[in-house]
Amino acid sequence: MVAPGLRLGAERLFEMPAVLERLSRSNSTSQAFAEVLRLPKQQLRKLLYPLQEVERFLAPDRRQDLHLRIFDPSPEDIARADKVFTATKGNRIDYVSSAVRIDHAPDLFRPEVVCFIGRSNVGKSSLIKALFSLAPEVEVRVSKKPGHTKKMNFFKVGKHFTVVDMPGYGYRAPEDFVDMVETYLKERRNLKRTFLLVDSVVGIQKTDNIAIEMCEEFALPYVIVLTKIDKSSKGHLLKQVLQIQKFVNTKTQGCFPQLFPVSAVTFSGIHLLRCFIASVTGNLD
Ligand code: GDP
Repeated sequence: MVAPGLRLGAERLFEMPAVLERLSRSNSTSQAFAEVLRLPKQQLRKLLYPLQEVERFLAPDRRQDLHLRIFDPSPEDIARADKVFTATKGNRIDYVSSAVRIDHAPDLFRPEVVCFIGRSNVGKSSLIKALFSLAPEVEVRVSKKPGHTKKMNFFKVGKHFTVVDMPGYGYRAPEDFVDMVETYLKERRNLKRTFLLVDSVVGIQKTDNIAIEMCEEFALPYVIVLTKIDKSSKGHLLKQVLQIQKFVNTKTQGCFPQLFPVSAVTFSGIHLLRCFIASVTGNLD
């Protein structure tokens, strides 16, 4: 499920400051990430490994409930993944096209596709924009009104993979949403991973459950990403994380056991999510 060699990342980062120092000076680290590595330890942990930050507030006997070290990349891997997401002449990151039906989707030669689904207003456009912050020319529209994204939007990340932004479901979703999303999820052969976004403030809602059932029914490998984690108190976030984790542990088959909390405002969890995407699409092997 995860590329070999992606082990014991965070421990190394926090227990061996020399690793940090070496990495921040390395030529293989982008300037942006080198600056990130210079943050004070606690801020750095919060930014790179938000789930570990949550874990600190959990009683020791409850900690095994959180599967937070299944994907635990080293800082070097995180730096490599950031490079995959950095637009350069040799690594063009672009919006490709939009489609309302699968037969209108671009015939992509790149084998790996990752798609993002979630309720309208869950923070999907904001998250995709944050993931593409190292490619500032990519235009991701962030809606002011719910129900803004009505088409599937395709973005290519160099020769590495394609990101598909699916229309939001729920309130004011397009009528043909079910057809469009269901058909896509069922038929797209090169779909590597589906990222299902859940608002961490309100937790799993009815429409989220429908999407989860759909992923389970089609036996898709999917991942739950918890959005807007900057909006809650630590206590509330911890409660939501535990509830959703319990749900994943007991009620799902195809869901990756580790949750990915993120904030598009503070960027917490964004580097780790980039790294996970780079890993599942085979770009860190
Ligand atoms: P979409 O409909 O799923 O694409 O959602 P948007 O990305 O347009 O976000 C919906 C609203 O939530 C907007 O007002 C965003 O500014 C806000 N939002 C999105 N992500 C975050 C986040 O991480 N933190 C906070 N505080 N607000 C967010």
